[in-house]
Amino acid sequence: MVYLSVVVPCFNEGEVIDAFHAALISALEPTRESFEICYVDDGSSDNTLDLLRALAETDPRVRYTSFSRNFGKEPGMLAGLRMSKGDSVVIMDADLQHPPELIPRMLELNGHGYDQVIAQRDRTGEGAVRSAFSKTYYRLVRRAMEVEVIDGAGDFRLLSRRAVDSILSLPESNRFSKGLFSWIGFDTVSFTYQNVERAAGESKWGGKRLLNYGIDGLISFNSRPLRLAIHTGLWLFVSALVYALWIVVNSAMNGVDTPGYATLLSAIVALAGVQLATLGVVGEYVGRIYHESKRRPHYVVRETDESTENFAAPVR
Ligand code: UDP
Ligand code: MG
Repeated sequence: MVYLSVVVPCFNEGEVIDAFHAALISALEPTRESFEICYVDDGSSDNTLDLLRALAETDPRVRYTSFSRNFGKEPGMLAGLRMSKGDSVVIMDADLQHPPELIPRMLELNGHGYDQVIAQRDRTGEGAVRSAFSKTYYRLVRRAMEVEVIDGAGDFRLLSRRAVDSILSLPESNRFSKGLFSWIGFDTVSFTYQNVERAAGESKWGGKRLLNYGIDGLISFNSRPLRLAIHTGLWLFVSALVYALWIVVNSAMNGVDTPGYATLLSAIVALAGVQLATLGVVGEYVGRIYHESKRRPHYVVRETDESTENFAAPVR
């Protein structure tokens, strides 16, 4: 029986994976619990897969899945959760930014009956600009979404088996885990730890990737942006009516004055902008429907520790 599964998505982590593995093992062994480590190689182009193969050969507690190409961290986590057999599952990064020493504490809180234990990082050592952006973003997300997403609460967390099963029961193909974790509910507890810089290699989250991730987060949870479009449209309509009324009254009382080309032009441009933005929002949802309706698997597996044959991930 496996007590704890640790899920680790890895993309080009060849430089740190051995150090990570050693740190993880030395954090887990003193707990005297049985555990397994589920590595997911997200189509790395470096030697990550070779290192994982080697680890799996020497250590029976190591299992791995390797994707046919880079699918992203979300599919990586999903694959890891699907692989996991433990009564509780810890999800963590391979770059040692999620200290393995915290796992015993997470297990302890799990033992007190919490289904989700979140290790929340503070923002020490992070660039001021990035930190300001993420803070504002989380404030926005909290207002816009029905689910609670905590600032600094990344994907480093422990989930009970029933929480994992609830996550796995959510069928959407566009996955925003931060939202999903919060959506499933259950008793949740969090504690903070001091942020650490990544041990080696570099972050895969550049500005553009973060921005797209941010938009995903805002849009994938509800249709409030559409509601916002309706509100903006209504407000513009009402103000246009008031303005038209004012023109009629004004020209009846004072006669027709100079023609308002400037007003006309700016109104047209402003409205065109609003219309385009709204169309974009609508298009975003239509695109998502299109995407979901294809019902493609989230990832394609190249090999696992049990089989090196090519096969696609099972389609539900
Ligand atoms: N990761 C992944 N697929 C990707 C990008 C990242 O599996 O396409 C993994 C990466 O190997 C690491 C974790 O996700 O274990 C977090 O990535 P990173 O450290 O680059 O993000 P940051 O800590 O800067 O947010
Ligand atoms: Mg990192």
